[in-house]
Amino acid sequence: MLGAMQDWDLLVTHVIDHAARETPNREIVTHWADGSETRTDWAGIRRDALRMAQALEALGVKKGDRVASLAMNHSRHLVSWYGVAGMGGVLHTINPRLFEDQLEYIANHAEDRVLLYDAAFQPIIDKMKDRWTSIEHYICYDPPTESEATGFEDWIGAQDGDYTWAQVDERDPCMLCYTSGTTGNPKGVLYEHRSTVLHAMAAIQPPAFNFDASSVMLPVVPMFHAASWGLPFAGGMAGIKFVFSAINEPAVLYELMEREGVTDSAGVPTVWLATFQYCDANDKPLPKLRAATIGGSAAPKFMIRRLMEAGIRVQHAWGMTETSPIGTLGGPTWDWDSLTLDQKVDKAAMQGRPVFGVELRTVDLDDPAKVLPRDGEASGALQIRGPWVIRRYFKAEEDALTPDGWFDTGDVAILHPDGTMQITDRTKDVIKSGGEWISSVELENAAAGHPAIAEAAAIGMYHPKWDERPVLFCIRKEGQACTAEDVIDYLKDHVAKWWLPDAVEFVDDIPHTATGKISKKDLRDRFSDYQLPEAEEGGAPASQPTPEPEMATAAPAPATEVQNGDAPAEGDGKKRGVFGRMFGKD
Ligand code: AMP
Repeated sequence: MLGAMQDWDLLVTHVIDHAARETPNREIVTHWADGSETRTDWAGIRRDALRMAQALEALGVKKGDRVASLAMNHSRHLVSWYGVAGMGGVLHTINPRLFEDQLEYIANHAEDRVLLYDAAFQPIIDKMKDRWTSIEHYICYDPPTESEATGFEDWIGAQDGDYTWAQVDERDPCMLCYTSGTTGNPKGVLYEHRSTVLHAMAAIQPPAFNFDASSVMLPVVPMFHAASWGLPFAGGMAGIKFVFSAINEPAVLYELMEREGVTDSAGVPTVWLATFQYCDANDKPLPKLRAATIGGSAAPKFMIRRLMEAGIRVQHAWGMTETSPIGTLGGPTWDWDSLTLDQKVDKAAMQGRPVFGVELRTVDLDDPAKVLPRDGEASGALQIRGPWVIRRYFKAEEDALTPDGWFDTGDVAILHPDGTMQITDRTKDVIKSGGEWISSVELENAAAGHPAIAEAAAIGMYHPKWDERPVLFCIRKEGQACTAEDVIDYLKDHVAKWWLPDAVEFVDDIPHTATGKISKKDLRDRFSDYQLPEAEEGGAPASQPTPEPEMATAAPAPATEVQNGDAPAEGDGKKRGVFGRMFGKD
């Protein structure tokens, strides 16, 4: 027997219909790259999306065809999210920071037929045009200049908007986003109408973005990064006001936040760092936000503390392009009011709890068949499943899942009994010293708390006795002096002694991926000839600084000495359930 409820497919078009019907006049403000500003609203976004859908059909774009965008955050990009899905197409958001070979690969692999782009990216178009084999039409979001591309407003302006959304199935695709993988070619993640709507329903809830009618969101996370964390759909569903900026200058963002009454913002940690620097340099308080979402990479504690001290709710989020991307979010827990500030910061520095629709588990790194307990100690490979989690990469022949149906994230994590998930590393980035794991992320975050350090990255380097030992690469804040010894001294209060890096190197820059994450692979490549400070006979790292300029060595006691017998015997490659101790600083 079937149930007796109505058929109502979970379609992206329902979201824009709802927003335009229920909150037609809620504003969508855009600050453009040339400094001008425009205002539209949800009714205007729907009107333009209908005209865009017609315009795409007039170009011969068919259901399932890919329409690409190479653009920052603005209202015309938002129109495209709904307009492309509304005619049954698939919007492929391209990250303009990708390298040329990646740009070539993904547009050709996706077989994009139309490219919508910001005038600021005209140089990319000029370079790539001959290498892109499937793009037939170029449409520029900005008013036409000397380029031969059609201007977006003229293009949709030629249509009357008398259009009925295309008939699609809820399992049909609506968006495509490539991961900027550090090895091999990027891989496409094909989101469905259904997965997108379910994801947006989760995203607006109190444990996630916590949107209500008064929310005003300025997303700094780009619309090309992991579907802008689902905000364009979640925002439509909740009918919030959006404030977009096509340029990411802290002064512009700050002024917009103040003037437009922004209550919420979301971005990677470096965005918040830039906000701090701007406020400090200009003697201004932090913007008056209700909530700050930090995701994409781990939020350091000093950042969380500073936001909290300003009365801002910190939502530390974890997710991936493959997970639409929301996996976990860390808003206040049930016992929040009874916690001290230190306890709140500690809790928020973990990656939060899964929203409904997401299931997590960790498995043993050496024996994936062994599911680990959620005891706040065992650290293992993080796996995830749910209706907005990838099953198969675009055009791949096989599912990207474990035999029992989970997606392996490539992250290493601890699950706590209260549901909190704590990322400790990427599988490939963990540092294995004397058979024990050292979290490079934890080391970096601790180092980033030093007042003179702007950014830090830790990687494992070959060591004859311990297999690997950590080396920390740091960028000093402008005008700040600090030595390797200062950094080591500072770290002594924040990490276990045997985690202390064998060397601290000061560098001018740290390589990043196109989505702003530290690229450990590039760092390892750059320092492939690097030699750890000479180890003494028997393996204890040397205590003397090496003659290299800008470099000094620490004198960390090897794991066996400092842990008073807790560490595994030399050569014992097995973990022995010591992860909790590793994270409980000694
Ligand atoms: P992407 O698909 O480019 O968004 O990258 C996803 C990866 O970013 C995850 O698998 C994590 O390694 C990392 N990541 C995302 N959010 C966080 C976070 N809050 N803390 C630590 N790592 C994160």
